[in-house]
Amino acid sequence: MYIYWTAEENRKNALMEFKYTEDNLLEIEQYFDTVVSNIRNKNFEVKDSPDTGKVCRECDFRFFCSQNGIIKFKAKDIEEE
Ligand code: SF4
Repeated sequence: MYIYWTAEENRKNALMEFKYTEDNLLEIEQYFDTVVSNIRNKNFEVKDSPDTGKVCRECDFRFFCSQNGIIKFKAKDIEEE
């Protein structure tokens, strides 16, 4: 199975391959459900804010976060390209 990181600047590092079996698919599904549950219950802590000029700039939630004061952006950081 592959994940392609679209924002990766170095194309050699953009494609990530990982092996899986039927057994670890179930384990991954359970882990994902736990992560979603923790997010929905607000059971998490942001220890290091993301880089607004790089990570947030590529994120689909940047306008939501900006409008709700979750993180402060410089106008140039959230412009559409
Ligand atoms: S825009 Fe918001 S959701 Fe997206 S990376 Fe930044 S802080 Fe996180």
